Amino acid sequence: MKRSEKLFAEARRLIPGGVNSPVRAWKSVGGTPRFLSRGQGARITDVDGRSYVDLVCSWGSLIFGHAHPSVVRAVQDTAARGVSFGAPTPGEVELARDIVGAYPSIEKVRLVSSGTEATMSAIRVARAFTKRPGVLKFSGCYHGHVDALLVRAGSGGATLGVPDSDGVPEAVTALTRVAEFNDATEVEACLRSHGRELAAVIVEPVVGNMGVVLPKPGFLETLRKVTRRSGTLLIFDEVITGFRLAKGGVQELTGIAADLTCLGKILGGGLPVAAFGGRSDVMDKLLPLGGVYQAGTLSGNPLAVAAGLATLRELGPKSYARLEMLGSRLQEKLRRVLRDRRVPAVLNRAGSMFTLFFGVERVGNFSETRAADAKAYARFFHGMLERGFYLPPSQFEAAFLSLAHSEADVDGIAEAATEALAPL
Ligand code: PMP
Repeated sequence: MKRSEKLFAEARRLIPGGVNSPVRAWKSVGGTPRFLSRGQGARITDVDGRSYVDLVCSWGSLIFGHAHPSVVRAVQDTAARGVSFGAPTPGEVELARDIVGAYPSIEKVRLVSSGTEATMSAIRVARAFTKRPGVLKFSGCYHGHVDALLVRAGSGGATLGVPDSDGVPEAVTALTRVAEFNDATEVEACLRSHGRELAAVIVEPVVGNMGVVLPKPGFLETLRKVTRRSGTLLIFDEVITGFRLAKGGVQELTGIAADLTCLGKILGGGLPVAAFGGRSDVMDKLLPLGGVYQAGTLSGNPLAVAAGLATLRELGPKSYARLEMLGSRLQEKLRRVLRDRRVPAVLNRAGSMFTLFFGVERVGNFSETRAADAKAYARFFHGMLERGFYLPPSQFEAAFLSLAHSEADVDGIAEAATEALAPL
């Protein structure tokens, strides 16, 4: 750990908190974040030479694991021909075609460089299209660090106990309404009273950012029904779930068509690409066709697009069958360990994403996640780390399996958990 400690000390002098994104600082689990030097398949190695089975996978970006050969090759070949032009390139058209092919609700799509840009731009175009100012989001959902969406936000906000950010004036969030995830009655009432002021309802259709929380049967259908009734656009933020739970994300699994969809993470194969897209009549409000300004020097960057294309090309039905098999194997084993050890905890899982919540029996919304025992999670996190398994350093973040994980890796997680859970 010596080199990580030294680097972290220097980083803290130079970078606020020593990190370029807050959860990386391990504040809620304690200890020194490991500085990573290498990743190969399901494994990462830190600067002190220790290896871990990676269950973060760049926060869900790496569906094939680290340094997947076709992604590496695509990036190398593309880099040799020039890394950025700020002019149209053929890869952007191919990637748009792949996205539109996988998401029937997306007729047109624009590439950006981060999930934050995708949600920010989706909200802007929704406001322009509906000529309405308001937005409804859900407690514990995180949509990047967009000012108007940093209200009762999950992810780093939940981890660090500051779901509302300093520096965001009330005047900016005054237009944001918040409802409890999975409370269909509350949403219906809210849209009945305020629907005509609301440009959009934005939701993580399966939540990753308060830990994994699944929608109750009928909840997403209600969102679709009530938004349609009031002419409010429904935005599915599938930055995590897109290409992870199915190629066509939650929309493929449920048959629900969002008006706008945000994508990221897997879309860039670990490089910075995200996207927002949806109905043509909405997307055509963007400049240069309409009056909504949205732009980016590195948008559709050739390197990132090449990594994304290489990733999407290899994802097929077999990939999702395997991810589901690995996920359900893990679920079965972990639930057995919890039972045997008599540890009060609940495992929430959707496909290859999961969270173990301690000290609670059921987690279906933000209030219930807040009741989870984050200290017990911190002990579990360090117990697993010692045994070579790198979990997210927060109770309120999803863990991810990838196609590089083997059955033996999954069994190893359960075995390590048996030991790590003993002191709990
Ligand atoms: N939406 C969701 C659902 C996310 O999980 C994230 C990031 N974890 C974002 C948006 C923001 O993406 P980025 O970090 O690329 O800005």
